[in-house]
Amino acid sequence: MSATANTTYTTFTGWVDPPTDIRPPMTDSLTCSVAVIGGGLAGMATALRLAEHGVDTVLLEAEFCGYGSGSRNAGQLASAPGGDIQMLNLLYRKRMPAIIRLTENAAAHVEGLIGKLGIDCDYEATGNVFAAVSRGQLGRTRRIAKILRRAGAHVEEGTPRELGIPHGFLGGMREIHGGIMNPGKFLRGLRSAVLASPVQLFEQSKVVDIVRDNGGVTVETSCGVVRAAKVVLATNAYAGEWDLMPKRLSSPLWVTEVETEPIAPERLTALGWTSGSGLITQHNIMENYRLTSRNTIVFGVRQIQRAAGYPLPERSPDPAVVADLARAFARRFPPLADVGITRAWGGWIGITSTWLPVAGTIEGDIDYSLACNGHGLAQATYVGSLIADRIATGTTSDDLRTIWADEPKFGRAVPMIMGRLGLRAAWAVDRFNDMINGSKRNARKGFAAVG
Ligand SMILES: Cc1cc2nc3c(=O)[nH]c(=O)nc-3n(C[C@H](O)[C@H](O)[C@H](O)COP(=O)(O)OP(=O)(O)OC[C@H]3O[C@@H](n4cnc5c(N)ncnc54)[C@H](O)[C@@H]3O)c2cc1C
Repeated sequence: MSATANTTYTTFTGWVDPPTDIRPPMTDSLTCSVAVIGGGLAGMATALRLAEHGVDTVLLEAEFCGYGSGSRNAGQLASAPGGDIQMLNLLYRKRMPAIIRLTENAAAHVEGLIGKLGIDCDYEATGNVFAAVSRGQLGRTRRIAKILRRAGAHVEEGTPRELGIPHGFLGGMREIHGGIMNPGKFLRGLRSAVLASPVQLFEQSKVVDIVRDNGGVTVETSCGVVRAAKVVLATNAYAGEWDLMPKRLSSPLWVTEVETEPIAPERLTALGWTSGSGLITQHNIMENYRLTSRNTIVFGVRQIQRAAGYPLPERSPDPAVVADLARAFARRFPPLADVGITRAWGGWIGITSTWLPVAGTIEGDIDYSLACNGHGLAQATYVGSLIADRIATGTTSDDLRTIWADEPKFGRAVPMIMGRLGLRAAWAVDRFNDMINGSKRNARKGFAAVG
């Protein structure tokens, strides 16, 4: 039977069910100091922190808090930047120490928030490993480790045994800070904190327009209006739906995650994955693998799909992508090649032309925080709270200044590789390299190539 014969496809996430107490939509008109749009990691973190500062805050969410990528991601809390780190180093060599300080502080901030709010999200401070599946990838992890260490990052290199990662990977580099969690439970915990706070939350309240008038900002939903002195946009990949957004801020891309059926503990132990660290391969388009507290493995990406335009559709994963992920799993974990995939889901992420998260202001009264290039679990949450501090105190922290733009101007769309053809070519090059490396390794070991 094929690994995907019994896969359930969902348009939400495999981590948790939607909440049963979704709040009613906004049907009235009201006034507040700050209106936050989007109840994801960034939006809830911003609203919660504003409330801590005593700022009168309204949070507007199109569906329910946690509906977006926040609940759908792989749950790997990263402490390094997203995107291509060698490219980042080329573009921003002088800024790298500040970027690393921001990304490591972001991971620590989320760990602190989990403790402070008492959120049960199965968090384990395992770090995450840039894991190599070929000698070429091993060389790349060494180069990246050098760059990160020079910029002050806490990383360690090692063999599979030293890093406690499964047999079959060749070694790599661990980001020491950060770890793995159930992101659905984390977002549910943040939502409970918002519900228990003075923040006025309206779910099922999609913002359809934002207009400036008489020194304030009017935010329109399909059946209500909020007037605020200040607005914070935290809608991630959906931000491009409004004309007022800076041009070429980010591009929405669809990525997929899947989860295996439960695996017998002795079979998991036999993998040699003693550190429990999340894994990220060094392909052009990465594969990620991580253990869960329900004795399954969640893994994904490997293919990225572009949006046809706005509005972004609700969608479930493409079965061909899920089948491709299943082939990857059998290849990386040959002893588990018979394990089936029970769930598949995906979500929209925002990718920037700079490879950095973006935050800034549009004419002083509309702030935004978006597009953490697939690393938003730590960074969107942290940047959201820094924006709240800036609004409440008037001071921009050093970490926020690292990415802040007072006059947002962004270069030509995302790099060529992010075009439809570029993405397909990147995938094909990855598969070609896998094939070559598979043949070399199998020739050395004297057994047949897998997948
Ligand atoms: C499959 C997948 C795997 C990933 N893996 C990882 C990982 O392992 N580690 C990591 O760090 N990051 C990962 N990411 C990226 C991470 O999830 C995102 O960077 C992060 O969720 C961004 O947070 P956010 O708050 O900006 O956006 P979101 O969490 O997407 O929240 C945006 C919210 O805005 C709402 N909204 C949109 N439009 C409107 C509107 N008009 N009016 C009102 N509300 C609106 C949406 O409904 C949504 O709730 C992954 C993403 C995906 C999809």
